[in-house]
Amino acid sequence: MKIINFAIVNRLDEGDDMKYAIFVIDMLKEFIEGSIPAKDAKTIIPNIKTIVEKAHDKSVPVFYLCDAHEEGDPELKIWGPHAMKGSEGAKVVDELTPKSNDIVIEKKTYTGFFNTPLDEKLKELGVSSIIMTGIHTHICVQHSAADAFYRGYDIIVIEDATAAATDVSHKQGLETMKSLYGAKIMKTEEVLRLFK
Ligand code: ZN
Repeated sequence: MKIINFAIVNRLDEGDDMKYAIFVIDMLKEFIEGSIPAKDAKTIIPNIKTIVEKAHDKSVPVFYLCDAHEEGDPELKIWGPHAMKGSEGAKVVDELTPKSNDIVIEKKTYTGFFNTPLDEKLKELGVSSIIMTGIHTHICVQHSAADAFYRGYDIIVIEDATAAATDVSHKQGLETMKSLYGAKIMKTEEVLRLFK
């Protein structure tokens, strides 16, 4: 895991003092071509790539939240072994391989905040608003959004840069994050316009 301290986090212009970070959640081989695939996982890759490249351009920090399971993780009882630490399935898809300044958070359950340094890193960087991408919308994206909400972060979810196993699950996830956590549901194009 490579951890980089950013001296400066760009303020992006949304007319306020928002300091953004991007989350790329579980865009791992396991969830795209492995045992627990998300239906539109392949089709959202270009949108995530566009967002990440823009973020790199503007020195907005990019966090990759990645399953890296070990024997005994409670979730394995539900889903069976998947994205096991060090396996091929636990690797980020080639198109989105993290760059040296990106921060990779290995997680053991749905949320990226549980027993990880994620919150501490976000606070170090002064992040106030998290832009969510990745899979699955109603599982790891939604649970990471819940934890972000509990900790006081504003949340944006990019609807065409997230995906789930079915359209129903995708929509349910978006609706839950909107109604319970006050998430703004936006499209890739709209989010790019925040990055002036
Ligand atoms: Zn998992």
